[in-house]
Amino acid sequence: MKSDIPKEVRAVAGLLEQHGFSAYLVGGCLRDILMGRDPKDWDVATDAEPGQVQSIFPESVYENQFGTVGIKTDAEDPKLKIVEVTTFRLEGKYTDKRHPDEVVFARTIEDDLSRRDFTMNAIALRLGSGSIVGDGDELVDPYGGEKDIQAKTIRTVGEPKERFNEDALRLMRAVRFAAELGFEIEMNTRRAMEQEAGLLEVIAKERVRDEFTKMLMAPDATRGILLLEEMDLLRYVAPELRDGLGVTQNKHHIYTVFEHNVRALEYAAKQGYSLEIRLASLLHDVGKPKTKHGDGPDSTFYGHERVGAKLAVRALERLHFSRDVIERVAHLIRFHMFYYNVGEVSPAGVRRFIARVGPETIDDLMKVREADRIGSGVPKAVPYKMRHLQFMIEKVKSDPVSPKMLGVNGEDVMRIAGIEPGPKVGQIIAVLLEEVLDDPKRNDRDTLEVRVRELAELSDVELAAMRRKAEERKDEFERGIEEEMKKKHWVQ
Ligand code: ATP
Ligand code: MG
Repeated sequence: MKSDIPKEVRAVAGLLEQHGFSAYLVGGCLRDILMGRDPKDWDVATDAEPGQVQSIFPESVYENQFGTVGIKTDAEDPKLKIVEVTTFRLEGKYTDKRHPDEVVFARTIEDDLSRRDFTMNAIALRLGSGSIVGDGDELVDPYGGEKDIQAKTIRTVGEPKERFNEDALRLMRAVRFAAELGFEIEMNTRRAMEQEAGLLEVIAKERVRDEFTKMLMAPDATRGILLLEEMDLLRYVAPELRDGLGVTQNKHHIYTVFEHNVRALEYAAKQGYSLEIRLASLLHDVGKPKTKHGDGPDSTFYGHERVGAKLAVRALERLHFSRDVIERVAHLIRFHMFYYNVGEVSPAGVRRFIARVGPETIDDLMKVREADRIGSGVPKAVPYKMRHLQFMIEKVKSDPVSPKMLGVNGEDVMRIAGIEPGPKVGQIIAVLLEEVLDDPKRNDRDTLEVRVRELAELSDVELAAMRRKAEERKDEFERGIEEEMKKKHWVQ
């Protein structure tokens, strides 16, 4: 065990001990060590109060209202740059079931462990007795946490019902740990979760969001979603997903909408994709239940990507995800239904498509589309088409697709054409961009200058007409889908 604990952590604990306090390794890092995993961060618990910790470590920051002091170390490893030292605490009262009313410091490690959620998280390791080298590490494990870790069991400390009533976030945490660690939830704990599921409704949404995020980022994120549904917690987290339960699809699918969304997430998680891609994969078809027409092999879901993007925004806003995440996920869902047929779409069409979805989004969009395809359970012959599109995207990737990639900007246009600021400048830029999307060679400075002078000669009406015509072409990809969908060749 000694070799697993970095010298920086031992140094922090050692100094506390030298000042007459006790110091223990606690929480996730100890659990990880006992499981033979690499800890994500390092937490130390002590009987020293925050002020005392700060005076022992002048280079420290008092981090939060829970008595945590962050101690800076000179480690290279980013996980070790800050060691968190938290004063022993007792369970605070949760009158609103959301936040503890107050922080009560405790005197002993046993008291501190008693307020922790699960046995696997209620273990402490005393790091030696004052020596930095750390002889005689001693495990404090009053609830049989080590045994539960070995048996891969999640079990509450004490009476499960009481513990979930104290803080219902623990319902989410149990599921999150099951997905993260591949553990089973012990029977009594599980039964209490089923009975107390409704408590989750009053939990502060940002706390739910943080656990949900960790769950989605877990290797077995899918299991997390299925457990949430089994225990009837999903209705408090993402009820939109539940609308897809039992909703069958058409001949292109073997799974219900719910199963398909979950399987798309499964693929995204397996690939180690980002949170946005996982959320977009999970939610990509939430618009289907509301847009379903007909039944059986020929049922359709026209417009489900638009409806789905709106529903995803609603779900993610409810969970207080950041604006940035919400917008990115909604955008991916909104554009996940693009049509592509080898030979039918020109490089200019691909550039327009990239211009429309945004060059920074295209790679993520392809990943969501892949998750959609694999998650359908019948991935057919499409990979060739997708590989071809990927090839086309790579080919046109460095071509200019947005106004800021044009060889001239608004200032240049005004100067070259000798015109004042006004709508005409924007119209000229828009027409130039359309022409450059058609032929990137036209993004050359001299060509652009000549073209700016020509365009400046045109009347406003003529310019507006050119621009309109160009805009119509932007729909090349999307019109493609609708037509194909009508022909029922590509009814996803
Ligand atoms: P991770 O490795 O994901 O950080 P962790 O176990 O360290 O896992 P944290 O959320 O960082 O999880 O919490 C640190 C410790 O604090 C937990 O191990 C647990 O002992 C305790 N804890 C956290 N949240 C709660 C809670 N809601 N109720 C009781 N104890 C909690
Ligand atoms: Mg932690």
